[in-house]
Amino acid sequence: MPGTAPEPTQDKAEAPDSAPSAKGKAAGKDGKPSSAVARLAKMGLRRSVDLVLHLPMRYEDETTLMPIAEAIRRAGLGQPAQVEGEVISNEVTFRPRRQLVVKITDESGELTLRFLNFYGSQTKQMAEGVRLRVRGDVRGGFFGAEMVHPTVRPVAPDEPLPDRLTPVYPATAGISQAYLRKAISGALSRTPLPETLPAAVLQGPLAKLKLRPLAECLRLLHTPPPQESEAALADRSHPAWQRIKFDELLAQQISLRRAHEARREKNAPSMPRREGGLLARFLAALPFRLTGAQQRVVEEIAADMTAQHPMHRLLQGDVGSGKTIVAALAACQAIDAGYQAAIMAPTEILAEQHYRKLSAWFEPLGVQVVWLAGSLKAREKREAVARVESGEARLAIGTHALIQDTVRFARLGLSVVDEQHRFGVAQRLALRGKAGGVEPAQPAPDTVPHQLMMSATPIPRTLAMTYYADLDVSVIDELPPGRTPIVTRLVNDERRDEVIGRIHHAAAEGRQVYWVCPLIEESEALQLQTAVETYETLVAALPDLRVGLVHGRLPPAEKAAVMDDFSANRLQVLVATTVIEVGVDVPNASLMVIEHAERFGLAQLHQLRGRVGRGTTESVCLLMYQAPLSPTARERLATMRETTDGFEIARRDLEIRGPGEFLGARQSGEAMLRFADLNSDAWLVEYAQEAAQLMLAHFPEAVEAHLSRWLGGREHYLKA
Ligand code: ADP
Ligand code: MG
Repeated sequence: MPGTAPEPTQDKAEAPDSAPSAKGKAAGKDGKPSSAVARLAKMGLRRSVDLVLHLPMRYEDETTLMPIAEAIRRAGLGQPAQVEGEVISNEVTFRPRRQLVVKITDESGELTLRFLNFYGSQTKQMAEGVRLRVRGDVRGGFFGAEMVHPTVRPVAPDEPLPDRLTPVYPATAGISQAYLRKAISGALSRTPLPETLPAAVLQGPLAKLKLRPLAECLRLLHTPPPQESEAALADRSHPAWQRIKFDELLAQQISLRRAHEARREKNAPSMPRREGGLLARFLAALPFRLTGAQQRVVEEIAADMTAQHPMHRLLQGDVGSGKTIVAALAACQAIDAGYQAAIMAPTEILAEQHYRKLSAWFEPLGVQVVWLAGSLKAREKREAVARVESGEARLAIGTHALIQDTVRFARLGLSVVDEQHRFGVAQRLALRGKAGGVEPAQPAPDTVPHQLMMSATPIPRTLAMTYYADLDVSVIDELPPGRTPIVTRLVNDERRDEVIGRIHHAAAEGRQVYWVCPLIEESEALQLQTAVETYETLVAALPDLRVGLVHGRLPPAEKAAVMDDFSANRLQVLVATTVIEVGVDVPNASLMVIEHAERFGLAQLHQLRGRVGRGTTESVCLLMYQAPLSPTARERLATMRETTDGFEIARRDLEIRGPGEFLGARQSGEAMLRFADLNSDAWLVEYAQEAAQLMLAHFPEAVEAHLSRWLGGREHYLKA
């Protein structure tokens, strides 16, 4: 019974409440074919071959029957049972609520089937005397053993059992398994699946993999004979899965390379540095000198922007390494060359902070900076958009608002995406797509702006080889001078009073404090409530200090006002949810308290901690935890205490969690890889790369056939 949740009722029988559509049989009937086709299309299943490549997520073994008595004996073991029996009673009762109760029997015993949602047609389908094949979990109910919402099918007395495992497919509401199975098996029998890998490739670099023919693998995965190892099918280590994963990775590698080529063929405005221009004046006005690492990456970016094809560069640098200034210098170069630049940040707090900082740098130099965010009033927004469109504003800073349809740039030459892993692929693409207006006197047809992405999260190698193969990387591997390392301590929750004492102490010395509220993943409302309570407690405990509160639900204007007060040291303590996680920069803050630190991921803790240690006084980060800690939690917190090196933290995080959550791989993963898993299948990537290279060089037709099979119309996702 997928999608059902137990709900206590008076008769003590657990009564799952499920939408009718969650039940395979019923939904198959009520959905008209046309709407089912539309739903399939929504799932990306448009062509026959899409259906063929829609593979089961698991299997059900319906190849055997169990006597009812045995199924009852095994009740509660959490394993579904399949039984067959004749209906001996069938009634609709109304207590405690309307439900259909059907009893069946075989020679061994009796079983109750309970349906809380049902159609009239089902009542008839399960009339007395009918023989039913039933599959579900047996539970010990108040009135004896029962199945709640089993899958049910009337059968003839001698109806044979299937001799194959039954596939269970990923589906959406309104598409029944029965419908999918039929559609897929139809597609499987009518779709020719010729080999797309040239023999020279299969027998050459791939010989070691001993790949089986794809058609055979697909047939096996859709309808595996029962003797196939269910475990290998389930954990996708079966050789048939390997072939599928390989082909998928190959399609990805081919299109990455093609995206790379295509980008090289596109035009971007060449924006060479101008002697004595804005850039020079900007640097002269800067209150500090660039670090060696900053200088190096600035040069790398400058060289890219001088070229006539678009830059596609990731700037990687630990929190606090000074990426913003590098982006500002790149913007100078674009503006100097007569173009506009845009900087997009994932949160309004961060975008606003960039806006303040950068406009303070740029406006005195006569450069107009415009701010675009969802919270702007309609009139303000219109004005901002108009200034972008006229080209009067040379630098636009904002959130997702920058990529809305209404925003058109006059001459966008550079787009910068800060904390890029927070954005989805489509959003990153959209900002680059804003080049519409890039126009030297004669706009070249295929012109796009240069793109700079920034992130504090280092990319694991497997990701760099796959999603980010088409990306140049610059690294800032040095922090600005004068930083004192952050001291991290673990503090048991019970020592809260001491922690409050430390806040007093810090404030007395003119320092500021962040208090980060616990992450409550299950409920945003609860998280909010906790933040408000923490705030009230701290206000009461620290009567002589000014305490502020910022969280995601605050209206943007209020959020900005609180951040503003904190930046200006009008607030000494800022109670915050994770909205402050990315980018917030208040150098005078030197103490950070993170409550329930054990609930956060390492990368997140690192980002949070990076909010302190930005000034010259020694900063302290107190990780409060609630005992007892699980071994992994202890290990994680120990890592945080031992190192402040983002790369080291990422490495250990990777050990604990695997690469899936890095750098927005989630989104790109959803778009591109359905079957291959970068944790366990990374070793296949190198083979796929080699095969891709060979095929692109020598087998153009095979390339087309392979891409069209695997990607259909989805290839554009890769160009992000
Ligand atoms: P991040 O890389 O995390 O985005 P920021 O760009 O916010 O880091 O920079 C962190 C702080 O360091 C900012 O206050 C910034 O002004 C300052 N900073 C950047 N570069 C230097 C430098 N070369 N010398 C001194 N301070 C710097
Ligand atoms: Mg930053």
